[in-house]
Amino acid sequence: MSQILLLVEQKENRRLLLEWLAVHYEVLLPKSTENINNYLPFNQSFDLGIVDGLALKRHWQWIAAQKQAERPVCLPFLLITPRSDVGMATRFIWQTIDDLIIAPIEKIELQARVEILLRSRQLSLTLKLSHDQLDRALQTAKELNDMKTSLLYMIAHDVRNPLNFIIGTTQVLTQYKSKLTDEKTQEMLDKTQAAAKGIDQLLEDVLLLGKFESGKIAFCLLPLDLAAFCNELVAEFQSSLKLKPQTEPVTLIFVNNSPSRMACLEPRLLRRILSNLLSNAIKYSLPNSQVIFELKLTENEAIFSVQDAGIGIPATDRERLFDSFFRAKNVGQIPGTGLGLNIVKKCVDLHGGEITLSSEEGAGSTFTVTLPIAHLAE
Ligand code: ADP
Repeated sequence: MSQILLLVEQKENRRLLLEWLAVHYEVLLPKSTENINNYLPFNQSFDLGIVDGLALKRHWQWIAAQKQAERPVCLPFLLITPRSDVGMATRFIWQTIDDLIIAPIEKIELQARVEILLRSRQLSLTLKLSHDQLDRALQTAKELNDMKTSLLYMIAHDVRNPLNFIIGTTQVLTQYKSKLTDEKTQEMLDKTQAAAKGIDQLLEDVLLLGKFESGKIAFCLLPLDLAAFCNELVAEFQSSLKLKPQTEPVTLIFVNNSPSRMACLEPRLLRRILSNLLSNAIKYSLPNSQVIFELKLTENEAIFSVQDAGIGIPATDRERLFDSFFRAKNVGQIPGTGLGLNIVKKCVDLHGGEITLSSEEGAGSTFTVTLPIAHLAE
């Protein structure tokens, strides 16, 4: 119901207006118009103000301020005045008024003017709403456009480099096959395979992000033996670590103190969460350090934590860490796309879980993912 503020000092007019308007509108009627700060319901908004000449003279600055505060939405004011006073008001006072009605007031005329003024208020509110929606749509379009640009840049850069590497090594392997030792050949093949896997992973990330954007991601909770699930994943990572012999290797340790129990989670997304966190922990580790992966099961939650003693994350970068394409400023030459944690966050959100981070630059990071576990129906 529209709200009308009555600032009318002339008693008879006030009584009449109240009687006529209260049937269709909520009327806000101050007791006295002497001191505006005492009676006005400042915190209560209204859609139309009706004033008479006396109140207008006293309060035109307050009225102008209210109108200004509502801009660009229109807050109309209607002046009730005897014909003899019309010419007496100053230009400034007129600027605060949107329409006038000559006293003695005619009920029909009053209703018509009130309705017209309320309609212009409503129209300007609707316009403002559409304007805000348009603004938001523009903002989203801009974000999408920025994302596409980043994506194109990333594909151009992160696919081209390994692709060039693959083309180069395969040429060398073809041309100098007979001159290369078996060891050298194997090393080049391993590197070629790693480069191809990198491209495959990147494309998979991009496809997955596309599915998230379009809302077409499959989410199917399945009963899992979480300890076995994690053990399998850790074994895969450990064997790939062995494939990259380093002088100061990173060691991956799995700690599980929970009883073996089935819990319902989405296996493909859980795998993405854990493998992204584990590969980051290994990638950003300092040489000769440990990555500790821990699983804890409570009655209603599965808690996974991945702790490394790596480069850590600068405090100023932590807030944007889950944004797509964001990379902290201390990554140096370590390769990456800035997509992994964004995907992790989306997978965690789909589970209704949460991810937290504690980190110290130069000392290491711990990511902890807590997922609610659906119980199997008895
Ligand atoms: P990237 O492909 O760059 O690793 P992610 O989305 O997986 O992308 O991670 C985003 C950024 O978060 C990384 O570029 C890095 O700056 C930071 N980061 C993630 N995990 C770690 C970690 N374990 N240690 C240090 N920095 C990390």
